[in-house]
Order: sequence, then structure tokens, then C-alpha cells
Amino acid sequence: MTVSSAFNAFKSSKSIFWKSTGRLQQTIAGCIERKGKGLHSGKVSTVKLWPELASKGRYFDFQPNVIRASIEFAEESPLCTTLCKDGVKIRTVEHLLSALEAMEVDNCRIEIKNSDPEDCDLEVPIFDGSASEWVEAIEQVGLKEATDHCGNCCEKMAAYVNEPVHVWRNDSFVAAFPSPEIRITYGIDFQQVHAIGCQWFSVTSLDNSFYSKHIALSRTFCIYEEVERMRNAGLIKGGGLENALVCSASKGWLNPPLRFPDEPCRHKVLDLIGDTSLFARFGSQGFPVAHIVAYKGSHALHSDFVRRLSGII
Ligand SMILES: [Zn+2]
Repeated sequence: MTVSSAFNAFKSSKSIFWKSTGRLQQTIAGCIERKGKGLHSGKVSTVKLWPELASKGRYFDFQPNVIRASIEFAEESPLCTTLCKDGVKIRTVEHLLSALEAMEVDNCRIEIKNSDPEDCDLEVPIFDGSASEWVEAIEQVGLKEATDHCGNCCEKMAAYVNEPVHVWRNDSFVAAFPSPEIRITYGIDFQQVHAIGCQWFSVTSLDNSFYSKHIALSRTFCIYEEVERMRNAGLIKGGGLENALVCSASKGWLNPPLRFPDEPCRHKVLDLIGDTSLFARFGSQGFPVAHIVAYKGSHALHSDFVRRLSGII
């Protein structure tokens, strides 16, 4: 990192100011390797997480390409968050990034491969549709303070919201209000699908133990009546009852039991944390310190929110 790039990265604006969280940047204490099938492509890939130096942040390594887990490489794609650079596409990054952000793995090299080394269309494995595979792996291997090239620890910065910031599309919105600590209030409303209906979930103190117990286990969900349309669009080729909760408008849940009565809403919080992690830079926190209120959000709207915080839109 050059002095000027770091200076620009932490430049405060009218809406946000950067300051130290009072904590040091961390990385994982050892290597993690997991293999599994992608939800949309159905392709099997192997992901290896490596410890990384302080201020390097989180990035995907698909030799010889490197894609930083940053909003500038996020591309709008249906039903997942995709990072793209120089013809390489990595789909469904949100659950892995959510786990890394919430468990405070601030610096990490994420190596990803599938069986065909020429194939530049990659996807992070879905596992059971939640972030629990990643959280368990991080808990097993443990964390350590990250140090820079000279062996020094680095402070972890975070963006504090100065004034309300919001983005919206139709009746969906994500808004951030000034708050001394992170709070999240998320609502969803599926009027035609009674088993889901209207749900709200609130987080008053986001730490890694709350995340691993109350958020990480929640699985992705879909509406049975929309499955055919998604399949026709070339999506969810790897989808099945083992990696997503499926709910029918007329018949209710097809693969109960749910892990929480409000599991779908909790999963939206999991996604929001993963998508907002793309605001991180140089080992900082991605999630801004604010009270975030979201209603009927999507990956695209979460990304718009990060672009708004970044001053891109
Ligand atoms: Zn998700």
C-alpha cells in the first residue's frame, strides 16, 4: 500500500468519517480448505483460505488474476453477488465474505479453483446454503493478529456514518443512521407466501459470537413457484432441497424444519453483512458503524448501498 492510496481510501466525506475501532487487524492462524458445489453453476470448486499480511485486505486469487473483495468489482447479477475482473467471474461470494467480515478475518487470500483450470467462470460452494461451514472452519483454525512486512500490527479502521444515507428501489430500501455501535433492523414481506409473510429481525450488538449463534446458521431460501423460471434463466443448476429452504405459496415449507422461525429474515442479514463487506479496504471493517435499517433488500440494493457510502453513486 502506498501512502497516498491509504490516505485516499480513508478519506472522510460529508456522510462518513473513518476512525480506528480500537482493535487490531486480524487474519486466520492457519490454512482452510473446503470443496463443494456452486448453487447457480452446479460446478464443483475448491476454495483455500490463507493467512495474509495486515493492510492487504481480502481478495480472491485465481492465478494469475487477483480480484479484491471490493465494490468496484461487483457486478449486478440475479440472486447472488458476483465479482468480475479481466474476464474472470466469481459468483456467490456473499456467504463466505459474510463469515470473514463477521468473524473479523480482515486480511485473507482466497484461492479458488475448479476442475477445469481454463474455466474463468467460478463459483464459491454453497454447502447447506448458510455460512456455518465457513464459520466452523474459522473457529477451528483460529485467528491471530495480522502484521505488516515489518512485523508491526495495524489498527483496524471503520467508517462511522455522520448523517442518514439511503438507497431505494420501488418499495425496497437500505438506510443507515448515525449510531455509536452497529445495529441492524431488517424486514421482509412475502404477502403471497403465507409461511414466510412479514418478518423483522434486529441485531443490537454484532459480535462474532452473536453472528455464529444467531445468523450464520440461517440458510438461503427460494419460492417453489419461481424455481422453474430461475432454472429457465440458467440459474440454480446446483440447487436442491439440501442447500436451500424451499417454500411454496400454497403448500408451505417443502423441507422443514427451519432452524429459526424467522430463518429467511436472518439470512437476509447474513447476505447484507456479506455484501457490505465489499466496503472494506486495506484490512478495515467493511460494515459501517451505524444503525442500518433495510426492507425487502436484494444483493443489487445492498451493492447500491455500498456504492452510495463509497460516493460512487
Ligand atoms: Zn444468501
